[in-house]
Amino acid sequence: MALFPQRFIDDLKHQADIVVVIQDYVSLKKTGATYKGLCPFHGEKTPSFHVNRDKGFFHCFGCNVGGDVFKFLELHEKVGFADAVKLLAQRFGVALPEMEESDEQRANSAERETLLKVHESAMVWFRQQLASNAGARIRRQISDRGVTDATSEALGLGFAPAVREGLKAALLKEGFSQGVLLRAGLVVQKDDGSVIDRFRNRLIIPICRDTGSVIAFGGRAVDPDQQPKYLNSPETPIYSKGRTLYGLHLSKNAIRQRKFAILVEGYFDFAQVYQAGFEGVVASCGTALTPQQAQQLRRFTGKVVLSFDPDTAGQGAAVKSCEMLVEEGFAVNVAILPSGDDPDTFVRKHGRQGYAERLEHSSPYLEYLLDRAAANHNLNTDEGRVKFLGDMLPVAGRIPDAAMRDRFADRLAFKARVTDEVVRAEIRKAVVQKQPALTNREVQSFGQVTKAEKGLIWLLIHRPDDAVPALETLDGPDFDGLSSRSVLDLARKLNEDKGFSPSALLERLTMVDAQLVTAIASEGEAHVHDALDCVRIIKRLRWERERAAIQREIDRLQEVGGHEGEKLQELLVRKYDVIQRLEALI
Ligand SMILES: [Zn+2]
Repeated sequence: MALFPQRFIDDLKHQADIVVVIQDYVSLKKTGATYKGLCPFHGEKTPSFHVNRDKGFFHCFGCNVGGDVFKFLELHEKVGFADAVKLLAQRFGVALPEMEESDEQRANSAERETLLKVHESAMVWFRQQLASNAGARIRRQISDRGVTDATSEALGLGFAPAVREGLKAALLKEGFSQGVLLRAGLVVQKDDGSVIDRFRNRLIIPICRDTGSVIAFGGRAVDPDQQPKYLNSPETPIYSKGRTLYGLHLSKNAIRQRKFAILVEGYFDFAQVYQAGFEGVVASCGTALTPQQAQQLRRFTGKVVLSFDPDTAGQGAAVKSCEMLVEEGFAVNVAILPSGDDPDTFVRKHGRQGYAERLEHSSPYLEYLLDRAAANHNLNTDEGRVKFLGDMLPVAGRIPDAAMRDRFADRLAFKARVTDEVVRAEIRKAVVQKQPALTNREVQSFGQVTKAEKGLIWLLIHRPDDAVPALETLDGPDFDGLSSRSVLDLARKLNEDKGFSPSALLERLTMVDAQLVTAIASEGEAHVHDALDCVRIIKRLRWERERAAIQREIDRLQEVGGHEGEKLQELLVRKYDVIQRLEALI
């Protein structure tokens, strides 16, 4: 993506009040100098999400996420920097400057544009086929499944007749090239070289982006012995299965309004639930939800109710989806249906009222798991209780929120009839084991940032006039081995290039560094108040590292013995020099 001129970015940032932007998504209350609200990036009940209007950054003390207004949009809308800039410009009615696109970029966006157009045309054609005489049998099948014309219309259902070159001929006639049809996955090339329609003799279900553009199709078999039962579009430049939630374009407003989403598995589950008036529904389409799909959903709600068949739940995608959602911090409820029923069959049998009752009596997923595990083991025996805890501890370890984990520990202890201390200690172990390596490293490096580094970073944001001259007295080797090295390096580089400003620093930080900087900057005051003190301590740390390295080398030479007197002398001189420098800094 082409870069915007820096002047434009600066002007935009100047106009775009971060509080106003974030309030589009989060309700904020002013407390003292900052604004507080419930974090949109992790599930929480007490606000730990802070926005600093003057300095233009946000930070969550719960999940550590932080950054400037662009980072907020990048994270919240799941877009890159350039799209975050565009969104912000739109929000504040600022015209975008002319951008210079490379040939390759122009070609890519032209290709995507063409792929979207060919899908649009294909949908029109499939729908015409459904409405035609040839589609009569399929229309009957749809209505036999209890799907009304209105729902069929809303879903954009269509029909691919049993011919080799139906859609292909129609689209070629419209002027699309065969290459485009192949890249869109609408036709396939056979071994003999012939190119024919991918979808033949199938009910067609368009798959859309949440903006409503058609990006792929699902094709369902219409004859009893037809294989496979479902055939989908392949992955293309505009479609990735793991990033698309079926039906979100129809349900996103209802989900936002009702503050929860119903998650079902199949297209027809979706159709029935949607038709029964529960418009806030999405379908995972048979596979377990991916974290990317969860993030899509997160833009509209942090709460999900899942309804599934208890018989297949154990091995099914539903359980995997639940666990992933819990890990991502969603509140997840489970509405159990009678054995053998999915939402499609259940709604058809019991109607809107019956389904509403199931939703009402849905229980939190963790409770559901507890009950299920308790039913599977004999809790009257020691062995049964050990197995029960063995099943449940890994689950507990994956709960991201500490308070929630504690409540779960209490429930677990109660069921297993052991003391809660024991359970909590075990859960802590499970949590540690579960920590992915990356997070561990990040947490550690946060911990190792010294007070002097923290002080300097705080001052760079809040009192740059004091901090910048101090920063200028540091040089490259002073930063070696510091946890905040990348931040201080960037600040120094900005200062050398075109002038340091807190806003320029925030804008250019990586996600991880932005967490660190906004965490420090959100604190009420600096750990070390004087910028020159910070610099002095940082320099002292450098010379102490150096002294330790020299000493290690001296020790090594002395251990080896005798032959390197000259080398030893040189090291002793260097050590003396370092000590002098250190003393000068005290
Ligand atoms: Zn958070």
